[in-house]
Amino acid sequence: METKIKEKTKVMELDHYNFLIDTTNSCQLDCIYCYKGHEKNTQKMDVKKVWNTVNSFLKSNSQLRSFKFHFMGGEPLIAWSQMRKLNSLAKDYSEKNNLSFGWGATSNLILLDEEKKEVFIKEKASIHCSIDGPKKIHNQNRPYANGRGSFLDVEKNIPLALAITPNDTARVTVTPKSANNLLEISEFLLDKGFKKVGLFPVFDMEWTNSEMKIWSNEIAKSMAKFGPDKITTFVRNRGEREIFSYCGAGKSL
Ligand code: SF4
Repeated sequence: METKIKEKTKVMELDHYNFLIDTTNSCQLDCIYCYKGHEKNTQKMDVKKVWNTVNSFLKSNSQLRSFKFHFMGGEPLIAWSQMRKLNSLAKDYSEKNNLSFGWGATSNLILLDEEKKEVFIKEKASIHCSIDGPKKIHNQNRPYANGRGSFLDVEKNIPLALAITPNDTARVTVTPKSANNLLEISEFLLDKGFKKVGLFPVFDMEWTNSEMKIWSNEIAKSMAKFGPDKITTFVRNRGEREIFSYCGAGKSL
């Protein structure tokens, strides 16, 4: 029995690790589909504890050549100073052990500014944006906790995000209500400069069969209009119903 447990908990020896790290449960927004619910706590990651866990994985793998952190949340940039400390520990470790280290984040962009942009660029890090489309649709889905729409605060920071990651795919969470607007959403985001649009239906909302049909027709129309290389999505089957993905800003991909 003891041997079996040890076998099960043994770390797989790979030459690269990706660590998906939730930096905080906190978020400025109250998206209608948020998997963290509407009462979020403000807890942030304990850098020492996270580093100890990461460090034990790194040390246990002699094959390792590179590793990467991808920060998520809540909204990861709320815990910017914790991210910086963790990255600094990882950078020191990688230099001492001849490993390659990189990092990135999925963000709602609200806290992105020139200073952070410079850090991302200097450290060759990437950013992945969560945005649900033009003003009306985005504000319906992604209001602040006080109900005010977040669109203008997100839109003004798109150029900063695209300066960091020019080939980013805009991450759109599609609800049953926005499913018939996929052409409009895609056109808007491609015009804004995103290289691709990821249209990901939220699965913890009720979808009627007719809404699912509208969604798949709109996906087909968007792919036909903009090219299949510009539109990405994710659907898998479970029994008779399709199940859909969470918002990437709040949930591991
Ligand atoms: S879905 Fe993501 S961006 Fe929206 S409230 Fe939740 S954690 Fe924040």
